[in-house]
Amino acid sequence: MLTVLNPATEEPIAELEQAGVDETDAAVARAKAAFPAWKAVAPADRGRLLRRLATLVEEHGEELARIESRNVGKPISGARAEVGMAAQVFHFYAGAVDKHYGESIPVGGGVDITFREPLGVVGLIVPWNFPLNISSWKLGPALACGNTVVLKPAELTPMSALRLAELVLEAGIPEGVVNVLVGKGSVVGSRLVEHPDVAKIGFTGSTEVGRTVMKGAAATIKRVTLELGGKSANVVFADADLERAAAAAPYAVFDNAGQDCCARSRILVERSAYDRFVELLIEATRGVKVGDPDDDATEMGPLISAAHRETVSSFVEAKPLFRGDVPDGAGFWYPCTIVEATNDDRIAREEVFGPVAAVIPFVGEAEAIRLANDTPYGLSGSIWTRDGARALRVARAVEAGVLSVNSNSSVRVSTPFGGMKQSGFGRELGMHALEGYSDVKNVFLSTES
Ligand code: NAD
Repeated sequence: MLTVLNPATEEPIAELEQAGVDETDAAVARAKAAFPAWKAVAPADRGRLLRRLATLVEEHGEELARIESRNVGKPISGARAEVGMAAQVFHFYAGAVDKHYGESIPVGGGVDITFREPLGVVGLIVPWNFPLNISSWKLGPALACGNTVVLKPAELTPMSALRLAELVLEAGIPEGVVNVLVGKGSVVGSRLVEHPDVAKIGFTGSTEVGRTVMKGAAATIKRVTLELGGKSANVVFADADLERAAAAAPYAVFDNAGQDCCARSRILVERSAYDRFVELLIEATRGVKVGDPDDDATEMGPLISAAHRETVSSFVEAKPLFRGDVPDGAGFWYPCTIVEATNDDRIAREEVFGPVAAVIPFVGEAEAIRLANDTPYGLSGSIWTRDGARALRVARAVEAGVLSVNSNSSVRVSTPFGGMKQSGFGRELGMHALEGYSDVKNVFLSTES
């Protein structure tokens, strides 16, 4: 049995049966059996079913947000926004079903046309930090393309996926199209990776497990999309609006208690503005409201587990520049922490996945780019400057998949999201995600008599 905890109280919220290899095989068989009929659903009807799912997610928004907040320990305001995004994702892909089409290509002797074919059964493996959101990013395009799905939420956070599976059926999406399995990554996840009837794995998680997934997928030449870890830079030039950059910077690290693959956990600051910026940053971080996730005003909750808190703590070796407060008593709390570092320190090299920001000074644009790129990761990042040409120059030079200028937002429903380097490959969201859930088939028809 799996005991699911509320990280803010350490109290159990559910006891769940865990699937093993046999249950995984049975779920894959159900998805395989459902595939031909689902693939044959007319695009407008498939769109209508996805639209109904989107509406049900909206109608159950508060319920889903409460489930997510209790299971992940995230503030209710953030959970509401994430559920809202999940609904928007299903709306987007409802509209995308009949806008993802093939081409006709000029050739001699006939007509050449391409089709976007669904892959078949796809395995979706998601992490614990944004359970419902990341599930929707994968389910939306997978279903829109006509695939059937086995979805494996993380062991720590299965609750929202289980409720979503009920809403999928209520929306009228046929039995077997979406199968949710609660179970261990090393059992259910790895069985999905090796299963010959699974055509693709859409994986979000750590770079370490991503590497295992990629290796395992090689045996059956499975397609993989890997959304992995990050160590993103928030680059602040001296000519930026320092007040705005500093006011925004804490939320780019401490949102979701730093358990965010896009966390801008390396704050690179131009030397001439360094002292002023650090002063403003500390002032802004003091204002982050840490506490009860049920309170509408709370901005940061606890970490996901006791074990994860141990890992996060191990990164803070020296006396920090700033350490915030946390509630007393139960809960896996860890305070907002700012440390001064060089880019060679462990804290600047490894993903902390907690509310710890490293501030690092630089001199000049070339050094900013060099430091931003001096990491195995390449997921996200920000550039703060009033010089538009510099903003574009630096954005083009930073090796990351998702960048923002004078902003720290990485994710939008309609724009591509994903990493470079060891942050993975493949893109989620927007029309780009459909590429990852379909194969191009080319058909030539001779017109010769
Ligand atoms: P994780 O890699 O430990 O687990 C992710 C999922 O993989 C879980 O469902 C887990 O059960 C499963 N899994 C574990 N071992 C497996 C195996 N051998 N085979 C198949 N599946 C297996 O990651 P986590 O701790 O849940 O999440 C945190 C990580 O996710 C961080 O590194 C974070 O950066 C990353 N992340 C990336 C993105 C992105 O879009 N790039 C988004 C969110 C989180």
